[in-house]
Amino acid sequence: MRCPFCGNVDTQVKDSRPAEDHVAIRRRRFCPACGGRFTTYERVQLRDLVVIKTNGKREDFDRDKLERSVRIALQKRPVEPERIDQMISGIVRRLESMGETDIPSKTIGEIVMERLAAIDTVAYVRFASVYKNFQATDDFEDFLAELRPPVQPGG
Ligand SMILES: [Zn+2]
Repeated sequence: MRCPFCGNVDTQVKDSRPAEDHVAIRRRRFCPACGGRFTTYERVQLRDLVVIKTNGKREDFDRDKLERSVRIALQKRPVEPERIDQMISGIVRRLESMGETDIPSKTIGEIVMERLAAIDTVAYVRFASVYKNFQATDDFEDFLAELRPPVQPGG
């Protein structure tokens, strides 16, 4: 695994342990070249999912993008990070088990809302209010962009 700080490819695994109730392996890594430390997660990927936008555009499903939008909706809410990870994994698992590799962006938004509603009402309302604004265009990309909070000084 290449070091994200200096680009050295010869990094070491210091520690591996199960995470998210054993659906992921968390590895803490160390770069001997620059002393940098970082963490990677290993997860099962059953299928290569493709997101279909209403305009017909296709793009590879990006778990990180989904995770960012969910974390923004849950910002400063009393939900443990571990629980958020489990929720994301649950969403991905559900998408993977739908029997189709092509998934409409709308379906993803609806599943996220359903899961958020079960975890935190405030986060659900945040996510849903933004989502509704984008039902006209149904563009998941714009939708996610809208969820990003304004940059705060020092934040
Ligand atoms: Zn390095």
